[in-house]
Amino acid sequence: MNYKHITVAGSGVLGSQIAFQIAFKGFNVSVYDINDEVLVRAKERIEQLKPRYQEDLGVTEEEVNAVDLRISFHSDLSAAVAKADLVIEAIPEVVRLKVDFYKELGKVAPDQTNFATNSSTLLPSQFAEATGRPGQFLALHFANEIWKNNTAEIMKHPGTDQKVFDEVIYFAKAIGMVALPLNKEQPGYILNSLLVPLLEAAQKLLIKEVADVETIDKTWMVATGAPLGPFAILDVVGINTAYNIGQAKAQATGNQEFEKVAQLLKLEYIDKGKLGRATGEGFYKYPDPSFMKPGFLNS
Ligand code: NAD
Repeated sequence: MNYKHITVAGSGVLGSQIAFQIAFKGFNVSVYDINDEVLVRAKERIEQLKPRYQEDLGVTEEEVNAVDLRISFHSDLSAAVAKADLVIEAIPEVVRLKVDFYKELGKVAPDQTNFATNSSTLLPSQFAEATGRPGQFLALHFANEIWKNNTAEIMKHPGTDQKVFDEVIYFAKAIGMVALPLNKEQPGYILNSLLVPLLEAAQKLLIKEVADVETIDKTWMVATGAPLGPFAILDVVGINTAYNIGQAKAQATGNQEFEKVAQLLKLEYIDKGKLGRATGEGFYKYPDPSFMKPGFLNS
């Protein structure tokens, strides 16, 4: 099936970006959220994306304004999904909320409509039954700032139909994404399966006082040719997110090292307003961090 009409459920940070990108690429999009008040904010979010597209992609005002003709907004789920070939769910990362949403969606969506979750940390098999159509359900995971960071990780659960998997891969390419298929379920997909252990290892080296931030980053940059070291990446991710992950791991495992990492992030960074690139300072000071200065790599 060649998808023509897409519904995006949840119009927050990611949902609004997903809706914009899909409409920008010429598809019709229905945006669904819980009430009309939230949808007013969604319209504002979408409006604010226009200059970002113009600045980052060099596209014209006409091109970004054309998006308005292809997006509609709905607080009634049946109306939102009436024409949908695919529903992309981007509602909060709360299991109970998603289960309830899929139960409702399964009842009102046309039989041929496929469903995809943008969940970052939950697995599609957790919701497959609730959808009432497990074969037509999978994960389609985008990154924040979708127009620039254009990865789409497409992940099956054991019951996903191969045909649906292939269709969603095709669709992801059609909306300008680099499609990255995962043939099996994997918590954290590919990217976070690689990235999270690297970032955790760097933080543990720091709290064990093996080396300082710059030496750890320099090691990684010189040895692998990577443009950023783990602490520079943490500044992009945001120190709050790193803290939340560290704290959750400390609670789940009782591991003292995770506890110490979380404490360090809170006392030395979060409490001092150093939240990463977004606030101008994290492990480094921006816009001229030391790792970008000439001579950093060979000093
Ligand atoms: P968000 O809190 O910004 O937005 C969530 C939206 O869902 C809100 O507009 C809220 O009103 C709406 N909502 C709540 N309950 C709903 C319901 N029952 N039906 C419809 N809409 C409902 O969240 P977000 O950051 O956009 O994250 C959404 C999903 O995307 C999560 O699963 C998250 O893991 C994933 N994700 C987020 C990021 C990120 O960087 N923020 C990146 C990739 C994936």
